[in-house]
Amino acid sequence: MKKSLRTLLVHSDYTPPVGFGAFPTAIHHASTVLFKNVEAMRARNWQDKTAYTYGLHGTPTSFTLEARLAEIEGGTHCVLAPSGLAAITLVDLALLKTGDDVLLPDNVYNPNRELGNWLQRDFGISARYYDPLVGAGIAALIQPNTRLIWTEAPGSVTMEVPDIPAICAAAHAHGALVATDNTWSAGIAFDAFAHGVDIVMQALTKYQSGGSDVLMGAVITRDAALQQKLEMAHMRLGFGVGMDDAFLVLRGLATMKLRFDAHDAGARTVAAWLKARPEVSRVLHPAFADCPGHAIWERDFTGAGGLFSVIFDERFSEEQTDRLIDHLKLFKIGFSWGGANSLCVPYRIQTMRRDWQESGQLLRFNIGLEDPLDLIADIEQALQQLSCV
Ligand SMILES: *Cc1c(COP(=O)(O)O)cnc(C)c1O
Repeated sequence: MKKSLRTLLVHSDYTPPVGFGAFPTAIHHASTVLFKNVEAMRARNWQDKTAYTYGLHGTPTSFTLEARLAEIEGGTHCVLAPSGLAAITLVDLALLKTGDDVLLPDNVYNPNRELGNWLQRDFGISARYYDPLVGAGIAALIQPNTRLIWTEAPGSVTMEVPDIPAICAAAHAHGALVATDNTWSAGIAFDAFAHGVDIVMQALTKYQSGGSDVLMGAVITRDAALQQKLEMAHMRLGFGVGMDDAFLVLRGLATMKLRFDAHDAGARTVAAWLKARPEVSRVLHPAFADCPGHAIWERDFTGAGGLFSVIFDERFSEEQTDRLIDHLKLFKIGFSWGGANSLCVPYRIQTMRRDWQESGQLLRFNIGLEDPLDLIADIEQALQQLSCV
């Protein structure tokens, strides 16, 4: 029976020990895994997921999480990494070698840009940046040595929504692979594989955990040969994850769709209110008609989650918008998102992007699970800081 995503998130194929029926996946800690004799040890293949070899390669807890994440994303294979960024690193190191070229969107998650620049400086791999709205025009940038194209759906600060099917078509015509950082939509609001992507990366730190208390990442594929490369890199890098953390992510999955929908509804309410304010020049929210790439969002996405950015009118200085943030009470100041608490962070885009034309201050909001009307009241009182000089 084919299950809908909402049902998949609640139902696990995990089998508890005989005589102990319960919903949670047990937390299995181990470094050493025991073999019954030498022959069994010699016969053991660490890549065979029907049994266990060593704690670094996984326990029943992490195997269950891998299987569930692959199923949710519509893939067949998954590897876990100690953070979302480690999952990005894993993709690059598994697929790129000296002489190769990687293309990254200019609005990419900034540590991914740092990694690209490092690969270029010290490892003989070229990393080039493209306009996230380039669409089919990406074909003109692809070189014979372009092996990998990163996409972000959408960029998590400036929110341009890329035309991923067009990028995939051009990449595949030239023999390049496409990886998507699908963290913004948690694998709920964007079906990356159905739109042509080869590799999906998730920062489980965000919606999957939902608790602001775990760092973890995942790389998901539908291709056995790609999975083989990812697993070899994963083994060579020693990227293990803690089983207590894996348990927390597993626990978060059952409520993820409901939380995501609540973040989404709250964010649209708060963003619409901000959009009507005279202090605000632009709201960058993919579900809003004036967001760059909105038509693509409407075509390819089914939801939006809790994250959006606001650009203030250019008459307000950084000092003023900093003071606004400092006066927020419910919104806390901090990185990451996907947890129950609302957050607000300023970004100096001019230092991160080549082609950023806006001159107003950009604030990124993560709408948590509080009552959106309380969040609006909080912003309204803090906005008064803009009028006093
Ligand atoms: C948070 C985030 C990451 C990295 O996740 P960490 O677990 O914090 O390393 C990667 N991509 C995006 C879009 C993110 O928001």
